[in-house]
Amino acid sequence: ANHTTGATWHDRAATLNIDGRAFIGGQRVWSRNEQRFDKVSPIDGRKLADVARCGDADVDAAVAAARAAFEDGRWANVAPAQRKRTLIRFADLMVQHQEELALLETLDMGKPIKYSQSVDVALAANCVRWYGEAIDKIYDEIAPTASNSLALVTREPVGVVGAIIPWNYPMLMAAWKIGPALAAGNSVVLKPSEKAPLTSMRLAELALEAGIPPGVFNVVPGYGNEAGSALALHMDVDTIGFTGSTRTGKLIMQMAGQSNLKRAWTELGGKSANIVCADCPDLDAAVSAAIGSIYFNQGESCNAPSRLFIEESIRDQFIEKALQLIPAHMPGDPLDPATEMGALVDDLQMNTVLGYIESGKAEGARLLAGGERVRLETGGYYVAPTLFDQVKQDMRIAQEEIFGPVLSVLTFTDVHDAVRQANATPYGLHAAVWTANLGKAIQVSRALRAGTVHVNQYDGDDITVPFGGYKQSGNGRDKSLHAFDKYTELKTTWIQV
Ligand code: NAD
Repeated sequence: ANHTTGATWHDRAATLNIDGRAFIGGQRVWSRNEQRFDKVSPIDGRKLADVARCGDADVDAAVAAARAAFEDGRWANVAPAQRKRTLIRFADLMVQHQEELALLETLDMGKPIKYSQSVDVALAANCVRWYGEAIDKIYDEIAPTASNSLALVTREPVGVVGAIIPWNYPMLMAAWKIGPALAAGNSVVLKPSEKAPLTSMRLAELALEAGIPPGVFNVVPGYGNEAGSALALHMDVDTIGFTGSTRTGKLIMQMAGQSNLKRAWTELGGKSANIVCADCPDLDAAVSAAIGSIYFNQGESCNAPSRLFIEESIRDQFIEKALQLIPAHMPGDPLDPATEMGALVDDLQMNTVLGYIESGKAEGARLLAGGERVRLETGGYYVAPTLFDQVKQDMRIAQEEIFGPVLSVLTFTDVHDAVRQANATPYGLHAAVWTANLGKAIQVSRALRAGTVHVNQYDGDDITVPFGGYKQSGNGRDKSLHAFDKYTELKTTWIQV
């Protein structure tokens, strides 16, 4: 039941007012070309709302609004302490509206309501608050030059930031971009995924209510090859912050190069390796982390540990324990507060995942759990938590990002073998190693080509640490103070003394 009204989440959903219009220059608007698309809920396949299908003209208008706001300094030239207060107010408003935002997120992309609240809204608000709090505590530099000169090295906002985000954590991915970008004084045009656009526009409304001036934060929902490419190609966008698939990330970098050479920062896919050695200090903890992390968010996490490498000698024991935990992750009604796993984002994604399951079977992996669609009374797109054993390195389910609740189990003979296999994909986002031997843990961590390595856990997560990939998992870092590198220019000013 909902805390404020006593109503169930279903009651609340039935009366929720959903506005699918874009947000440009501080106002809700339909697309200039009158186009709309149907947003369907993955929970039950029913239409939720009409959403503005933005195109070139809308992106032009949003970029012009962002540019005008940037040029007149209504946000960029405000003292950092005041930007801080405004961003903290924005974060407070997100927390005050957490039930509405969580409900919208769950209806839009299918994740369980309890996680929309405890993870998505909570972390997104925390992110905005953290960058707000940080911005009046950062000092510029004076370079150690000769005594007859003074060289100031200062950071300035880049100007207009285009942000393109995926659908798996819509609000959180928006926050990872707008938090540092707005704190640094930029104006932003955000293009949410067509599969889950609804919370982005609501965030922009709350930002305006908090006092972020009109034009500073704009949202243009629409398709990738329409609104998305218009933004990436735009001659008046200074930087593009992109999170999504590796395939689209490559296109984004091309578009940046063929237009105004805007900086393109990419946060891309993953096929993260979780290595469990025979000397693992706590096997139950390793099993529970392996299972909990792959099925969390229906497996639709960029850093999901989708390849599990178990040392031969503990394989049978590990799998036996894993199979006991899997039933608790069977999908259920995302609006039921007890549900652990919800719906996949749409029928296309469900069919992609089912296709990978078929390929695993066809290539000779052994299916030990799941492997099929789950039909709930309500309809919608659900897949059972799936586990394949006897997976070989060259199978598609060991190489490609599935982005669904499918775990591939491989084995290794010694830790060098494990590292070699772990590194043998184009991705390099996260990895983990479980061992009681500290020296071995450090050696493995150093050898793994991944942006984050976990030792004897998989849930380490904090706004204070950078998040991003090696290799084809991307070229930037979100979160932490390092994220300011994406959204600021360095300027050197020489002064004769
Ligand atoms: P996607 O690449 O299909 O879409 C991402 C965004 O790009 C969407 O807004 C989409 O509309 C837009 N887009 C698509 N084609 C475009 C084009 N031609 N021009 C401009 N924009 C275009 O990815 P997705 O399916 O939404 O998201 C899942 C992917 O995101 C997975 O690969 C996942 O691993 C990755 N991801 C990475 C991180 C990270 O931090 N590294 C975080 C979350 C998700």
